[in-house]
Amino acid sequence: MEKLNKKTDYKSFIKSAQNKSDQSECKRCCTCCAKGGPALHKDDLDLVKSGKLHGKFLFTIREGEPAEDNVKGGLIQAETDVVKIKSKDGTEACLYADFSNNQCSIYENRPLECKVLKCWDTSEIEALYDKDRLTRKDIIGEIQGLWELVEEHQEKCSFSEVKQIIDENQGKIAGKALEQLLEIVQYDISIRALVLEKTDTDPNLIPFLFGTPMQLILRKLGIEFKQRT
Ligand code: SF4
Ligand code: SF4
Repeated sequence: MEKLNKKTDYKSFIKSAQNKSDQSECKRCCTCCAKGGPALHKDDLDLVKSGKLHGKFLFTIREGEPAEDNVKGGLIQAETDVVKIKSKDGTEACLYADFSNNQCSIYENRPLECKVLKCWDTSEIEALYDKDRLTRKDIIGEIQGLWELVEEHQEKCSFSEVKQIIDENQGKIAGKALEQLLEIVQYDISIRALVLEKTDTDPNLIPFLFGTPMQLILRKLGIEFKQRT
């Protein structure tokens, strides 16, 4: 797994939690929920399939995508899909955190990571957070037509190809490299639009199906595309 660089706020939360030696049970204060929603694991599949955790409240960090490792800290390339609960608009807080009374609004159906997270002893979450992650294939792999589209998108918007283009050009993107990246961005935009135009897919499902728009990911990597007028 390739290590990039960037600190994360969650890591300091985990570190500070390690000093809470006097705590032995969860106070249900929702402080951890304010740091971000959980990633889902195979154990959570039934929650999604039964609709208790609806896809429109999830998003995907796609395999190969540069993403923050909330426990170890820093940016890494995701080894598999990481399906996560979305954040509340403009914050890092989990969508299901209800700060009016500091409660989880789906407490009875909270995912595995939330069940095992003990801020005073993080050994259990550290042992499992990157194991048996739930992928898009686990959830929609049997939906013919849709799954093929997702696979095609994954292939045409491949992060290994993007990385190769950036590495070969040592970050100086121009000429053919620029055209290649632009083609990827345009494909990414068009498939999202096509799915919405030709099917009755809820727009809120798009971040789960196709992850973060390539344009935003490339911006994070320092490559900006201006919108054509
Ligand atoms: S695990 Fe989360 S909800 Fe429980 S006491 Fe710690 S910060 Fe609060
Ligand atoms: S699902 Fe519930 S327990 Fe888990 S992070 Fe969100 S609000 Fe907190």
